[in-house]
Amino acid sequence: MSNNNGVEQVSEAVCDNQEMKPLKTMTLLQNREYLMRKSNYPKFTALTFRGEGLAHWLITPITISEEWDPNNVPKSPINTYSTRALWDTGCTTTCISTKIVKALNLTPIRQGEYASPLYGKETCKFYSVNILLPCGHMVYEHEVNDFRDFEYEDPSRRFEVMIGMDLIQMGDFAITNVGEKTRMSFRIPSIKTIDYNIEYNKIRYANIPRNAPCPCGKMDETGVPLKFKFCCLPEMENY
Ligand SMILES: [Zn+2]
Repeated sequence: MSNNNGVEQVSEAVCDNQEMKPLKTMTLLQNREYLMRKSNYPKFTALTFRGEGLAHWLITPITISEEWDPNNVPKSPINTYSTRALWDTGCTTTCISTKIVKALNLTPIRQGEYASPLYGKETCKFYSVNILLPCGHMVYEHEVNDFRDFEYEDPSRRFEVMIGMDLIQMGDFAITNVGEKTRMSFRIPSIKTIDYNIEYNKIRYANIPRNAPCPCGKMDETGVPLKFKFCCLPEMENY
């Protein structure tokens, strides 16, 4: 069995597995937002999960808090809950366990239904929370639903949050397995497309003249083959 204990690297070490102090979090977030306005500072934050082997699941730290508006930061301390989150592309919405709901004393904003592969159709409640990703990016006033608590026997597999496509689609998300070591990297916001098919075409079609028919075989409405330079070449040149 491969070891699935990943090591997370974050470009902004705002959050780790430890309990976070709310005030410190806000100060760091404001500081980061200030730095990101500087021209020589990256306009994104990133996190990387490095598996020690092939990973069967991608789990990183995460912090959930009651919702608050960045333009109107509350004076009283904000309750936060730091735990582990599973990155799940099969999940449409991000879910938090009922344990977190209780710990943060969250009030539901509505009721709904979701399809769970484990339990079938489940009724659930929706909550509005702030989500602090381990790269230091805060997602404000985001709607999540609760899911039934369960514990995997393997402690390395335990998580209390499922990060769904609603969060993943805010950035660029890549999984690679070079040398049988899984690496997941995520950045927010989304900046550049990853397309292995274009990488293949760049090698395969390196010697095709610009005015030759495109090797992909596409034709115009009259059945004339499209020229390489008007078809697949621009995408390859821009990649
Ligand atoms: Zn083409």
